[in-house]
Amino acid sequence: MHIGIPREIHAGETRVAATPETVKKLVSQGHQVIVQSGAGLTACIPDDAFAAAGARIGKAAEALGAGLVLKVVAPDAAELALMQPGAVLVGMLNPFDDANLARMSERGITAFALEAAPRTSRAQSLDVLSSQANIAGYKAVLLAAHHYPRFMPMLMTAAGTVKAARVLVLGAGVAGLQAIATAKRLGAVIEASDVRPAVKEQIESLGAKFVDVPFETDEERECAQGVGGYARPMPASWMERQAKAVHERAKQADIIITTALIPGRKAPTLLHEATVAAMKPGSVVIDLAAAQGGNCPLTVADQVVVKHGVTLVGHSNLAALVPADASALYARNLLDFLKLVIDGEGKFHLNREDDIVAACLMCTEGQLVRTNGNVPAA
Ligand code: NAD
Repeated sequence: MHIGIPREIHAGETRVAATPETVKKLVSQGHQVIVQSGAGLTACIPDDAFAAAGARIGKAAEALGAGLVLKVVAPDAAELALMQPGAVLVGMLNPFDDANLARMSERGITAFALEAAPRTSRAQSLDVLSSQANIAGYKAVLLAAHHYPRFMPMLMTAAGTVKAARVLVLGAGVAGLQAIATAKRLGAVIEASDVRPAVKEQIESLGAKFVDVPFETDEERECAQGVGGYARPMPASWMERQAKAVHERAKQADIIITTALIPGRKAPTLLHEATVAAMKPGSVVIDLAAAQGGNCPLTVADQVVVKHGVTLVGHSNLAALVPADASALYARNLLDFLKLVIDGEGKFHLNREDDIVAACLMCTEGQLVRTNGNVPAA
C-alpha cells in the first residue's frame, strides 16, 4: 500500500505518526511510505532519517493523498480536502467529535480512532491512551516541580533541613500511577485516590498512601467498576464524600495532580474552588483533564493561572511536550493496529468480526458506524 505520514499542523502538536523504526518495518513488508518533508522535525527526526529507513520524502498533498494515511490527530478541513475518497485513515481522531467524524464520512474516508479500542489484553500493544497517558503522568510531575517554589525531596544541608513536598494524585490510572512513580523518584511524599478500590494495591506498591473513600451503597460500588476498562460518572453521594476527603488532604498537600477522565463526557470535578482556596500559598495543581473541562473549575485550558495563591497548570497535550518518545510509542501502537487491517498480501482488509477493528471503526463507505461502546451510561 501507499502509506502517507503528513506533518501534523494542529497548534501545539509536536508528535509524528511514524518513526524511522516503524517506516523500516512497513517498507520491509512491501509498502511504499511517503513522509511529508519536515513531518518529524518537532519530534527530533530529520527527513534524512526517514529517507534512510526507506521512505520517500514528499509534499503534504502526496502524504495526505496516500491510500493509507497515518496521523496523530484528526485532519482539519484543509487536510481532509487533500485526502482521496476511499482512503483509510488511522489516528487519534476523537470518537466524540461528531462534526469532524461527519466530515470524514462525507469525504468517503474509512477512519479508525484508536482511542476507542477496548481495554483488553489483546489491545494493550495498540492502546494509544495508555502510551500517551504514561508520558503525560511523567511530564505532569516535571511541570509541577518546575512551578513549585520549593524542593521536591527532603534535603539535609548545612543551612538546615528542607521538608519533602507532599503530592496528592487524584485518579490513579495509567497517568496517575506514572505520576506517583515519578514523584517518588524525586523524593516526594505521595497520597493517591481513585474510584476503583482495586488500585489501592498498585498505589501502595509504588510507595504512596491510598486515600480511601469507602462505598456506602450498591450503586456506588457498581458505578466504580466502570465499563470496559473506562470509568463511569460516580453518584453525587460518593462525589460529595470524596470532595470532603480531598479537601482535608489538599490542605496538607504542596502539589496536586488530577487525571480523572470519563470517555465522551466532561471530566468530573474533584477539586472545588473552596479546596484550592484552602491550599498553601505556592502550591501547584496540574490538571491533566484540562482538555475535557478540567477536574478543577479554576483550571484554564492551555494556560498557567494563579488563583488563591495556587498555580494551576492546564496544559491540554502533555504528551506533546515529550515528542520524541511520545511519537516512538505512538508509532508502534499504529504498527500493531495495522496488523489487524492489512492482510497477508499487504492489502487493506476490513474485518468487522474483530472486536478491536469494530470498536475503532468510525466511518466507512460514506456511513458513520461508530459503536460508542466506550461511552458509559450515566
Ligand atoms: P482514565 O484516563 O480514563 O482515568 C484516569 C483514572 O481516573 C482512572 O483510574 C479512573 O478510575 C479514575 N477516575 C475516574 N473518575 C474518578 C473520580 N471521580 N475520582 C477519582 N478517580 C476517578 O483511565 P486510564 O488510565 O486510561 O485507565 C484506567 C485503568 O484501565 C487502568 O489503570 C488499567 O487498569 C485499565 N487499563 C487496561 C488496559 C488493557 O487491559 N488493555 C489498558 C489501559 C488501561
